[in-house]
Amino acid sequence: MIVFNQAPFTGKEFGYIQKAIDNKKICGDGEFTQKCSEWLEEKTGASKVLLTTSCTHALEMAALLCDIKEGDEVIMPSYTFVSTADAFVLRGAKIVFVDIRPDTMNIDETKIEDAITDKTKVIVPVHYAGVACEMDTIMDIAKRHNLMVVEDAAQGLMSTYKGKALGTIGDFGCISFHETKNYSMGEGGALYINDSKYIEDAEIIREKGTNRSKFFRGQIDKYTWVNAGSSYLPSDMNAAYLWAQLEIADEINDHRMELWNTYYEGLKSLEDKGLIELPKVPEGCVHNAHMFYVKAKDLEERTQLINYLKDNQITSVFHYIPLHSSEAGLKFGRFDGEDIHTTKESERLTRLPMNYAMTVEEAQEVVDRIIDFYKGK
Ligand SMILES: *Cc1c(COP(=O)(O)O)cnc(C)c1O
Repeated sequence: MIVFNQAPFTGKEFGYIQKAIDNKKICGDGEFTQKCSEWLEEKTGASKVLLTTSCTHALEMAALLCDIKEGDEVIMPSYTFVSTADAFVLRGAKIVFVDIRPDTMNIDETKIEDAITDKTKVIVPVHYAGVACEMDTIMDIAKRHNLMVVEDAAQGLMSTYKGKALGTIGDFGCISFHETKNYSMGEGGALYINDSKYIEDAEIIREKGTNRSKFFRGQIDKYTWVNAGSSYLPSDMNAAYLWAQLEIADEINDHRMELWNTYYEGLKSLEDKGLIELPKVPEGCVHNAHMFYVKAKDLEERTQLINYLKDNQITSVFHYIPLHSSEAGLKFGRFDGEDIHTTKESERLTRLPMNYAMTVEEAQEVVDRIIDFYKGK
C-alpha cells in the first residue's frame, strides 16, 4: 500500500515533548514555541512570527488585523481551501472569487484589477502546491488601490519568490503545520507579521485581548484586557513535535524534492506525448515539493486513473471543489468574470502520494503504474 499522506515524524518528537513536560510549562509560549518562532524568523526574514493553533486561525488573526467589517470585499481564487474564505466571512466580508491560471492553479493576477470595487479591502493570494503567485504584479495592484495583502502560504514553508520566502511579501503571511503539510505539529500554524506596526495588536489578539505578552517580557507589571481577542496560541507540547522537524527542515525538503523529481522525470514522456500535464514552476519561483499532481484529459479519465491506482494499492486524491459553486460560496461570495479554468482544471487534477516516510522506489512504482494506465491511450 502506498499511502497519500502520513504525518512527518523524525524520531526526536517524543524526547522534545517529554522535555516540554519536564519544563513544567505545557501551555503556550514555552521553550519550543520560542525555538520554532525564532527559527522561522531567521529562516524567512519575517519581522515577527507568532505560532498559532492552525493556519485557519492565523488567517482569522489576519482578518482581524486588516480590520475587516461587514460588507468589505476580499478577492481570492475559488480554487482554495475553505479556511481562506471562512476567516474573512466570519468578519462579515463578501468574497469575490477570480479565475486561476491553468499553469500553476494560482490566482490569475491579470484578472484581479477588474474585480476591485470601492468596497475591496484585501487580496488573498494562495500559493498552491508551494509554488508562488505572481507577487510583483499583485503587490503593485495592492499599492495602487491601497489594498492589504494576506498571503495564504499554508503550503509554502521553504518556498521562495524571487528570493523572498512565501508569506513575507504581503502584509501578513499564514502558514499551516497541519499533519498534511511538509512540517507538522498535528494541528497548528503561524502568522508572519511583515510590518512591525501590527506586532503589538497581533500579540493582544492572540492572547485573549490582553497585553500578557508584554507582561511576560517584563515590560509591564500586570496584564489586563485591552482589546477584543481570542486564544490562538498552541500548547508547547505541539510546538515540541514541530521542533523535531524544523531542526532538520533541509533534510526533509531534500527528500521531498527527490520524490518530486522522480515523479517529474518519470512522467515527462507522457506529458511530451500530450497525454497528461505536470506541474509548472515559473521562473523566479523555488518550490518545496509540497505536492505532485498530474492532470488527466478530463473528469472521466481522472476518475479512471484514481480507480486504477487504487486497484494497485496506491492512493491518489483529487483536490478542492471550487468554493464559488459550494453552498457557502453561493451565500457569501460571487465569481467575478468568467470561470474559464477553475472548474475545468480542478476536475482534471489528482495528487500523487507524497510524504517524508515514502521512498524513491515507491514513487517509481507509482510512475510505472501511471505509465501502464496510459499504455494504448
Ligand atoms: C492546509 C491549508 C489551510 C488550513 O490549514 P490549517 O492549519 O488546517 O488550518 C488553509 N489554506 C490552504 C491553502 C491550505 O492548504
